[in-house]
Amino acid sequence: MSDTHSPNDFDPAEPNTSEEYDPVDVAADSADADLRPGADSCYKCSTCDTTCPVAEVDDDFPGPKFQGPEQWRLKRREDEQTIDDSVMSCSNCMRCDGACPSGVPLSEMHNTARGEYVDEQMSKTSVEYWRNRILANYRTSAWLASKVPRLASFAMNFGPARWAMEKTLGVTSERDFPEFATETFREWWERRGAAAESRRRAREARSRLDEPVDGDKKVAYFHGCYSNYNTPEVGKAMVRVYEHFGYEVVVPEQRCSGTPMFANGMVDDARRHAEVNVSSMADLVDRGYDAIASCTSCSMALRQEYPELFDIEGIDDVAARTFESVEYLRIHEDLRGELAAADIEGDLAEEFAYHAPCHARNQGLERQAVELFGELDEVTVTDVGDSCSGISGTYGWKAEKYDTSMEIGDEMFDHMEATEGETGMTECPTCAMQMEHGTGYEIRHPLELLEAALVA
Ligand code: SF4
Ligand code: SF4
Repeated sequence: MSDTHSPNDFDPAEPNTSEEYDPVDVAADSADADLRPGADSCYKCSTCDTTCPVAEVDDDFPGPKFQGPEQWRLKRREDEQTIDDSVMSCSNCMRCDGACPSGVPLSEMHNTARGEYVDEQMSKTSVEYWRNRILANYRTSAWLASKVPRLASFAMNFGPARWAMEKTLGVTSERDFPEFATETFREWWERRGAAAESRRRAREARSRLDEPVDGDKKVAYFHGCYSNYNTPEVGKAMVRVYEHFGYEVVVPEQRCSGTPMFANGMVDDARRHAEVNVSSMADLVDRGYDAIASCTSCSMALRQEYPELFDIEGIDDVAARTFESVEYLRIHEDLRGELAAADIEGDLAEEFAYHAPCHARNQGLERQAVELFGELDEVTVTDVGDSCSGISGTYGWKAEKYDTSMEIGDEMFDHMEATEGETGMTECPTCAMQMEHGTGYEIRHPLELLEAALVA
């Protein structure tokens, strides 16, 4: 017979006798228990699995539900449970985050699991570890390349070198490496006069706009690695467009946002970079600046991944005051009105095939370029649909992931080719690489179109 109490044993009128009693510890292992909100909210609807671009094309990938809540539960029940190596096949596109109706913090769980897998289970002498570490620390390679940009651009696309890189490191030789700029964005910024020159130009613009010349429109630009080393024209467009609206721009000390490090489970590397970024941005936020990023993965890292994964002083204030560059102007300026009155000529007066990066979707920004540029008569911006581009930063650069990456991108390539023009548009530099690689189109950033339309 069971020794459990029958409901009839319960006497709600039992008096409190004030007798001594031993407290019952209902969470004996609470120091280890993961009590974060949402971890137990998964009710196995599988919606996240149906939105995962990797699971759609790779039958061996078990999908976000397994990577997140299921693996979490297994680990909580069984100390010896290890992380399944399939977590390294998640591209960290973060689409599953937005899909879950129950608010399960899927990408946070994936990032944590991937970090644990790399720390505790991945061999530190394996080729895969070092290949991933080199790819994740792109900033270091790009910094070196920027010292001899022409030579680096040639060497990185020299056939035999690429063949050797694929054979020894597993970096695909199918893709062209992006060119390195002969002058980085930061070099241009310093040569131009840095913050003092930006203040002068912003004051001139405020005077033209009939705004108080001593106003407090000021932003701190997080340019990220790619705008600095490869596409400084995006950073320059950001500065000129913001100054056009009377904003003083500063360019603080910064490191990589950490996006490629999260995707490769290099959480300690990401933390080191985040500490520098948060420290310099927090000082400026304290002084009334807002943080602006032109890459949607960088703004995503500062807004979501940093506060989810790190405890760094000032991180919540920085996260709350970080914006994507066009989003910020949409909030604070009459961007649509300005564009409606603008003319555009030359090679940007054409039809763009626009791809919204997954990380833009996560921030609710997937329609902004299409809606905004609808005001420009000479330009058409066609949304190429909601599929993932497939490259996901370093993912599509791995030889063993290249085919999967291209299969995911197929739908986007088809839709791009169905547009009239031969120019693409996106906010993410690696989506831009994939768009160019799959179609041969030239790819532009929305800031470049804004600059062409608004800045004389
Ligand atoms: S969408 Fe959310 S609730 Fe549904 S299976 Fe995925 S994690 Fe669980
Ligand atoms: S982050 Fe992207 S690839 Fe990874 S599980 Fe979620 S949807 Fe799939």
